[in-house]
Amino acid sequence: MTFREKTKEIRIGDRVIGGGNPILIQSMTNTKTEDVESTVRQIHMLEEAGCEIIRCAVPNMQAAEALREIKKRIHIPLVADIHFDYRLAIAAISNGADKIRINPGNIGAAERIRAVVEKAKEREIPIRVGVNSGSLEKPLLEKYGCVTAEAIVESALDKVRCIEQLGYDNLVISIKSSDVLMCARAHELIAKETDYPLHVGITESGTLFSGTIKSSVGLGIILYQGIGDTVRVSLTGDPVEEVKAAKRILKTLNLRKGGVEVVSCPTCGRTQIDLIGLAGQVETLVSGYDMDIKVAVMGCVVNGPGEAREADLGIAGGIGEGLLIRKGEIIRKVPEDGLLAALKQELDELQKAY
Ligand code: SF4
Repeated sequence: MTFREKTKEIRIGDRVIGGGNPILIQSMTNTKTEDVESTVRQIHMLEEAGCEIIRCAVPNMQAAEALREIKKRIHIPLVADIHFDYRLAIAAISNGADKIRINPGNIGAAERIRAVVEKAKEREIPIRVGVNSGSLEKPLLEKYGCVTAEAIVESALDKVRCIEQLGYDNLVISIKSSDVLMCARAHELIAKETDYPLHVGITESGTLFSGTIKSSVGLGIILYQGIGDTVRVSLTGDPVEEVKAAKRILKTLNLRKGGVEVVSCPTCGRTQIDLIGLAGQVETLVSGYDMDIKVAVMGCVVNGPGEAREADLGIAGGIGEGLLIRKGEIIRKVPEDGLLAALKQELDELQKAY
């Protein structure tokens, strides 16, 4: 893996990103922000899943005002997402947002951008300058002929310069495209041009299945180059799934420790137990443990014990039963219907000693 030069450190609430700090996981609520109860409930679920920064849409003044109450009841930094109306940005900052996300291109006249920047300065909160491939300015589209990685980068850097000229450099940048390769290319280009922290994600990536794949490929390419300070997996679905996917991506790239990893075989004609069902149950079971260990769920005694030996705990299926393996040692034979409970018992013991 290559590593980008350290980015500038930026404080968001009680967290610091950039400067070699761990990459933080973000998500976005999909409740009506002004519905404080539902929004707080969803944020608590996201916190529980591992979300470290949360963003809420602020499409109207009620939403901006709701931020004050939401902020009191959550434990992670709160980012307000604003489009078009600079007054919403100012109200969001007054109501305690730890960061705002704007696209200066759609905020309007220079005085409006200045008013937002002055307010952010007053509370010393960062501004995330967000540019999406879908909202590129006409002159850039004309210059490049179509949406390109270069055009996205130029658009983002223009906006950053516009805020810098107002005397503010407490900034984070996000550049997004639903085209995975274009998005990756744009990140490679912008990482050479600026040391502001980058919030990385593949936008509008799709449903749980295709969105997870697109995000994994895109974030994999970008993060593997040492680019990125916060991440969001954007899915059309429950945001809790976004957080789970982001955690798994960071863990796969060795950028995050913690959480049990399940290794399971694809099954074949030798499998004699319901391994697909069991692997799913094991995946759910281990999500309740915070140990940095590997659990193998293997279908047979041909490859099973060998693979399971590589793991901290393992199951190797037989005919209506399975072997339970701990650190390479076969502990006992367990009937198929008792394998999950037996594994749980082992996990509990490991957790006690962890
Ligand atoms: S571990 Fe056994 S059951 Fe699973 S795929 Fe390999 S050979 Fe087949």
